[in-house]
Amino acid sequence: MSDAVPERDPTTTDAGVALDNITVEFSGVTALEDVSLSVDEGEFFTLVGPSGCGKTTTLRAVAGFEEPATGEVHIDGGRVTDLAPERRDVGVVFQHYALFPHMTVRENVAYGLRFRDPPGGVADDERVDELLSLVDMAGMGEREPEQLSGGQQQRIALARALAPGPDVLLLDEPLSALDARLRERLRVTIREIQQELGITTIYVTHDQSEALAISDRVAVVSGGRIEQVAPPETVYREPQSRFVAEFVGENNLFDGEVTATAPPRATVDGVEIALPESAAVDTGDSVALCVRPEVLSLGENDTASNATTLTATVEHREFLGDAYRVHCSWNGRSLLVKTDSREPPEGTVTLTVDTDDIHLLSDSGR
Ligand code: ATP
Repeated sequence: MSDAVPERDPTTTDAGVALDNITVEFSGVTALEDVSLSVDEGEFFTLVGPSGCGKTTTLRAVAGFEEPATGEVHIDGGRVTDLAPERRDVGVVFQHYALFPHMTVRENVAYGLRFRDPPGGVADDERVDELLSLVDMAGMGEREPEQLSGGQQQRIALARALAPGPDVLLLDEPLSALDARLRERLRVTIREIQQELGITTIYVTHDQSEALAISDRVAVVSGGRIEQVAPPETVYREPQSRFVAEFVGENNLFDGEVTATAPPRATVDGVEIALPESAAVDTGDSVALCVRPEVLSLGENDTASNATTLTATVEHREFLGDAYRVHCSWNGRSLLVKTDSREPPEGTVTLTVDTDDIHLLSDSGR
């Protein structure tokens, strides 16, 4: 190896991947603004957010395909900001399978071995067989990509990315070209393989349910910035911002002013609400309350001190198979309720929510 080829700088962090204050600009447009995040070794970490928010740019900055205007990238503790992509020990799978059409499955996977460093070790043939078994494609090595289904092609793309034994696996919307059922199956496969190998993985998706289902932690991205990083349950139950509350799952959001307090109850815009203990509010505060559709129970009149009861009117119902979405109106506002009741009531209904199921946004700003 030539002295001129930069090596990783010595360890500065023990994270699997760390981005420190990364900013990426495209002809004056800021695609990423001062993004910092740290992915643990062996963690399955997902970037989720709407189209154009900067997910792919983040992934490309880790892979080395995008040069940040400012900031540093670390992989496995070493600084890689100035290293070319092929020297970063990352495997990448893109949305479109990008298999070589003129090569067999076996040749496609073997192609992934060309950057193996150091070369050698297990013979290529043996390594390819190992990888084909890993992605459940043993015996299909002689096929050509066009003889494979979309899901099979994506398995091969995964095998090719894993071939050189990278430190980090980067997956950019790998399932978005597949139908819904296959997506659900393959995401389980990806997760199982990731756990079997213990490989640090960053996964990009715009599909929030996929992000919640597959990840150890999720970063919600909006407008080139990270809104929240947390385990899926925390992101869902305790969103930090209005954007997260509305982007991840469905939510009923109430903005109002606290006009009186008598803990654990407070009056918000004239309605007395039982608030969680953690929600300290004072008279005059502007608050934003989140109530998930599935935590509102329909038709029960609960007078317990830790419950809030509202009288609403059912506007219409949607049957989803395993549940109903019930659209209600209450005090001139729309309220969405999700219930698995076989026959949700119509007309005037009582809605009840437990204190612990109300989340107060710490950032009530719009
Ligand atoms: P999607 O889910 O649609 O793929 P994304 O969240 O991955 O979106 P990015 O592809 O990272 O978003 O793009 C972030 C922003 O940077 C967008 O505004 C996009 O238009 C812009 N952008 C990305 N690549 C380039 C480029 N090569 N030249 C100019 N602008 C770009």
